Amino acid sequence: MADEAKNLIILGSGPAGLTAAIYAGRAGLAPIIMEGMKPGGQPMGTTMVENFPGFPKGVLGPELVTRMREQAERFGAKFLAGDAVSVNFKKNPFIVQIGKKEYWTKSLIIATGADPRWLGVPGEEKFRGRGVSTCATCDGFFYRDKVVAVVGGGDSALEEAIFLTRFAKKVIIIHRREALRASRFMQKRADSESRIEFYLNKEIEKIEGEKVVSGASLRDTETGEISNLVCDGIFMAIGHDPNTKIFQGQLELDAKGYIKIKNGVETSVPGVFAAGDVGDPHYKQAIVAAGAGAMAAIQAEEFLTNTSA
Ligand code: NAP
Repeated sequence: MADEAKNLIILGSGPAGLTAAIYAGRAGLAPIIMEGMKPGGQPMGTTMVENFPGFPKGVLGPELVTRMREQAERFGAKFLAGDAVSVNFKKNPFIVQIGKKEYWTKSLIIATGADPRWLGVPGEEKFRGRGVSTCATCDGFFYRDKVVAVVGGGDSALEEAIFLTRFAKKVIIIHRREALRASRFMQKRADSESRIEFYLNKEIEKIEGEKVVSGASLRDTETGEISNLVCDGIFMAIGHDPNTKIFQGQLELDAKGYIKIKNGVETSVPGVFAAGDVGDPHYKQAIVAAGAGAMAAIQAEEFLTNTSA
């Protein structure tokens, strides 16, 4: 059974959800934040964030979101552990279910972010946690003086590779095309790391090993030639997929599963707003997510004012 309807529930506690919580708390909406299974969101898995304004020397990702959370709590935001398992937006108040408990809310901000993508090749699932990872910050430490591979050609792949040079004796970046997608700044940095090697026009076909990863078979994307890679770990950095499964049939999503957004943060249901990577296939930056979180909170406040009149 649900209690009285809340003003605002925020799903997700990354930069978008936490900034929404700061603004909504400060506006007196007493927001409830459902933290999700990964409190703090993607910055929890990064090292130094160098491009978030206000931190000229950079700030560690976990520290950034911890500070945001403290700021939200100062303005009365309340945090609940767990993930929303279903929602019902058919009428207002909306229903959000966590575990067996249902919550009613007059407005909602979705900031559930995105999760790392997997390749889907044989051996990947079998060796997850035994040589296959999506988080260099979490697992890089285990590869001191070893050889590791990073899959992907974007900023994340290069960032992971640069971080891994702290431990590994060799880091091989495997990218399926000739040209990298990463920014010039990151490419320059990676180029200057003597421990990083690039295998371009290569795709992983299969991950191999007995108890743990011992290598992979690679296919040349131009010639089709197969070669063997010997390595101790493989880090996937091939982008993210939005966390929108529970919104299917409730909100309009695009072909890739991102929430369709208009006017900055509005979804297809009035009173339901979306902020951050869950509706952003393009920028995917902490600062952009934070900005969208602020917009969503302001819009939620306006919605509540207009509908309570
Ligand atoms: P991304 O830019 O979308 O790059 C994903 C990479 O993975 C691409 O090179 C892509 O190849 C490759 N890829 C995708 N699916 C693949 C598959 N099935 N098999 C093999 N390769 C595959 O994602 P991202 O690197 O996570 O970056 C996301 C956003 O965050 C970007 O806007 C980026 O600038 C930003 N970011 C910034 C920083 C920073 O400023 N320090 C750090 C991290 C991320 P193709 O190139 O062939 O498509």
